[in-house]
Amino acid sequence: MSHSVNPGPFADLLFAGLPDFEPGHVWLVGAGPGDRGLMTLHAVNALRQADVIVYDALIDEDSLAFAKPDVETEFAGKRGGRPSPKQNDITLRLIELAKQGKRVLRLKGGDPFIFGRGGEEALALVAADVPFRVVPGITAGIGGLCYAGIPATHRDINQSVTFLTGHDQTGSMPTALDWDAIAKGSQVIVMYMAMKHLESITEKLLKAGRPEDQGAAIVCNATTARQQVLISTLGKIAQEARESDLQPPALVVIGDVVKLHDGLDWLGVHQAGKKLNPDPLG
Ligand code: SAH
Repeated sequence: MSHSVNPGPFADLLFAGLPDFEPGHVWLVGAGPGDRGLMTLHAVNALRQADVIVYDALIDEDSLAFAKPDVETEFAGKRGGRPSPKQNDITLRLIELAKQGKRVLRLKGGDPFIFGRGGEEALALVAADVPFRVVPGITAGIGGLCYAGIPATHRDINQSVTFLTGHDQTGSMPTALDWDAIAKGSQVIVMYMAMKHLESITEKLLKAGRPEDQGAAIVCNATTARQQVLISTLGKIAQEARESDLQPPALVVIGDVVKLHDGLDWLGVHQAGKKLNPDPLG
């Protein structure tokens, strides 16, 4: 580690009353979508006390700067969106480190319980009698959209939002999903890991009657310095994605909340957004 947070009166105040990380415990902690300013105080409190940090591919390594200078770090990344033969190894490793009496921080992107396998890891800890704690994080499907100037809900547009994953543990499109029902019943659909099957997914939604001109967007590397946003429509997004250089990690949003992007693009070219004329909702 290059540097660590300087403890002092401010840190004492900041972390007063937050839990002590006990030796032999594992904390499953969500680090948020990328920008380390989106970590919770509980996450930073975990980082500053951990003896060992087991972290994922989507973690911004800068956030490890909050850790103790002599912290051990282990990369447990899974890349390429494939089923990971290593998931079992990661869990066994957490148990092994905890049994050695270490304070084990399992740092995960976004929220540990949203498409993050946090539940599986926690159940394995229960089975092995390892005490644990779970710290929620801002999930990419909410925080990432916000940084792209797309609200997940907007009163005039939607009263519900659906989060789904674009592939299952075999790497295929999730067969358990009823795409017709989703097309009809989900006003706004926020999709994780959906780039690979985007073409088939959009086809299914269109076939089920979803309009071609409905707003659709892709947000890559959301909340990081490499964030890219593609604004399109349901009818065109698969082709535009194919012709672009956009790469995962990416979120796909289908719904007319996307049409607010120009007005709410606080981080993009307009900075404070711009007045929309004509009003896309009008
Ligand atoms: N637990 C995480 C999700 C892990 S699944 C969470 O709550 O956010 C990994 C998928 O999340 C990626 O394939 C992508 O679809 C999405 N994702 C995570 N971080 C992202 C980011 N910074 N930008 C865009 N998509 C992201």
